[in-house]
Amino acid sequence: MAEKRRIVTGEREQQEVSYENRLRPQTLDEYIGQEKAKEKLIVTIEAAKKRGEALDHVLFYGPPGLGKTTLAGIIAHEMGVNFRVTSGPAIEKPGEMAAILNSLQTGDILFVDEIHRLARQVEEVLYPAMEDYAIDILIGKGATSRSIRLDLPHFTLIGATTRAGMLTAPLRDRFGVLQRMEFYTPRELKEILLRSATVLKVELDDEAAGELAARSRGTPRLANRLLKRARDYAQVRHDGRVTIDVAREALGLLDVDDKGLDSTDRRILSTMITVFGGSPVGLETLAASLGEDSGTIEDVYEPYLLKEGYISRTPRGRIPTAQAYEHMHIPMPAGD
Ligand code: ADP
Repeated sequence: MAEKRRIVTGEREQQEVSYENRLRPQTLDEYIGQEKAKEKLIVTIEAAKKRGEALDHVLFYGPPGLGKTTLAGIIAHEMGVNFRVTSGPAIEKPGEMAAILNSLQTGDILFVDEIHRLARQVEEVLYPAMEDYAIDILIGKGATSRSIRLDLPHFTLIGATTRAGMLTAPLRDRFGVLQRMEFYTPRELKEILLRSATVLKVELDDEAAGELAARSRGTPRLANRLLKRARDYAQVRHDGRVTIDVAREALGLLDVDDKGLDSTDRRILSTMITVFGGSPVGLETLAASLGEDSGTIEDVYEPYLLKEGYISRTPRGRIPTAQAYEHMHIPMPAGD
């Protein structure tokens, strides 16, 4: 039997790519939320345009699905330049990176998703490229080999990562703008959902939009995913309209609770409380006990649980908070 599909994941689902592209806002005006990032970018874009220069290199960091790729595409659109997309794991050899860089035109934006996963040697190609707009190419082999420097057009690198801490210092230092992406408020998510419903031609009640927004873990990708599932449910079981009742039923089927936590979130909390007795636990130990990948817990689950105050970090590990006990309906031991 197929495993029940998870609603909370760090990856894009298959088939998601094409509808995500349809749902992607094209301009800064259409891009909802992330006000701090937008403000900073507006100034940077205007300044670069006035000087007729390429934009500074930009690094976006934060949990998956918060709009890093979307914002990078919007920057390209606003600058009126080409947008090239690749990712850390997709480039295996330094020569591949050199070829991509060499094919760029002045002002173009190269977007590198999961930039923390670039191989070291590939990353090293980026150092002179970002700093001096040049690449060093080794010609020949052995004693007769020599390196020649090839000039590149002035381009902009936009990197995205879920783990700013995993970037090497030389790479991080070469970005002019470092921007953290924030979780969205339910109000912002509601606005995103109502816009998505219009694009997807789904009838979505205002109240239902509010309900889906409140249970989307502050993440637009998840909000859109919930909307799609609610729409399917509405079409198969009802008259196609997503009302508050339809939204609630669909969320129930997806195992998303009233606080927006899914079964894995709850398993994390209950394991911390019952298996580890509320004592500090390290990420690897917790992951092993859950049979989950530690990276997924760190990137996808933990940031939201931390932000909402279900867990907190101590120097000795993560601990569940009083709120976690309450949510799991487990009495908190006295004296804690
Ligand atoms: P990331 O690159 O951070 O993983 P994406 O940029 O791929 O996230 O965003 C995931 C989806 O969420 C996009 O397809 C887009 O439809 C939606 N989205 C993200 N941010 C916004 C936003 N600010 N306004 C509207 N939709 C958004």
